[in-house]
Amino acid sequence: MNKITVIDPNQFVALTTQKNDPAPKTNLLGMSKTKLMEFFKNLDEKPFRATQVMKWIYQFGVTDFFEMTNLSKKLQEKLTNIACVIPPAVKYKEFSEDGTRKWVFEVAGGSLVETVLIPADDNKQFGRKTLCISSQVGCALDCSFCSTGKQGFERNLTESEIIGQLFVANQSYMEGVPAVKRENRVTNVVMMGMGEPLLNYEPVVASMSLMLDDFGFGLSKRRVTLSTSGVVPKMYDLAKDIDVALAISLHAPNDKLRNELVPINKKYPLAELIKAAKAYVYDENPRHKKHVTIEYVMLKDVNDSDEHAHQLAVLLQDLPSKINLIPFNPFAHAPYERSSNNRIHAFSGILNNAGFVCTIRQTRGDDIDAACGQLVGQVADKTRRAKNWQQKIAQNDRLKQS
Ligand code: SF4
Repeated sequence: MNKITVIDPNQFVALTTQKNDPAPKTNLLGMSKTKLMEFFKNLDEKPFRATQVMKWIYQFGVTDFFEMTNLSKKLQEKLTNIACVIPPAVKYKEFSEDGTRKWVFEVAGGSLVETVLIPADDNKQFGRKTLCISSQVGCALDCSFCSTGKQGFERNLTESEIIGQLFVANQSYMEGVPAVKRENRVTNVVMMGMGEPLLNYEPVVASMSLMLDDFGFGLSKRRVTLSTSGVVPKMYDLAKDIDVALAISLHAPNDKLRNELVPINKKYPLAELIKAAKAYVYDENPRHKKHVTIEYVMLKDVNDSDEHAHQLAVLLQDLPSKINLIPFNPFAHAPYERSSNNRIHAFSGILNNAGFVCTIRQTRGDDIDAACGQLVGQVADKTRRAKNWQQKIAQNDRLKQS
């Protein structure tokens, strides 16, 4: 088998070609339309080759240039020699009985990141399928209820690693189907997996552009959602750079509690966050965003009282928003418990009475650890947080035993 070296176009890594090594290949997966046009221009090819190749890759899941039948034989050969289409390697995959699918990818450096696909309740063949995509290896923000946060942070994912997650999810429905008859099945994307997407800004925006592009995945802008824990300055940039739906991981209705649950709140408190969210909805850009989705994890006796619900209603009163209550998914040694169903419904009732659309997220994929907040992966932690967390657990266990 020929050994190939893959250059990720988004990683500016100087590769030295050793004697007898095959020439490095350029990975076209995740390359923006502009960069791809430039790539073909450098090959003395017409720019429209870029959109032809994009359609093969993103709409038909084709990775072999010889299957791209509207390219000349000469170009197919040339591309095969110098380029490739390679998503991150699937280390493990698991498909749940309820239609949920989970992939664990091994990315460069050996770390593992997770991606989860959740179908609509009816699990129809062509029904809604939402893919939760990771943007970083681990996460530096350390939200106290989040298992990813306990893994620490290693690095940002590249465009090809981000878009590769969507590519592989769509490909999983294409097995055995002739190339030109294939159809993408993922209907919705949420940038809500491992990591804080606004802290990996350029690759995330470039990847979402490919998701929206008619020659890319062609998803509607309302079906691509970026979820942030509140990196306020980048929210203003996002409003200018791309038109996608916005979700905010809020989880607390006042600064005191949010400082504990979502520590980035100490840097960008609620007043600044809500102001930025309003700016996103009401920006002067003609691309008008209708509302923001508020994510609120329900933690027993922590943030789930009637008082908290009333505070939330006041906080959000001038922000066009929909509220999504998420029953907490406990992970090993988690310091919280899930609120009872009665409590969640009572909380939701207060918000409904205050005029909000408030939904309760149905927990899916529990049997394969694919539920929200369970995206753990395995991260070469550069922050030592995972080690500190493990030490804390061991200390607590010793205290319990003594
Ligand atoms: S909730 Fe999101 S931002 Fe917070 S630690 Fe987890 S992955 Fe990071």
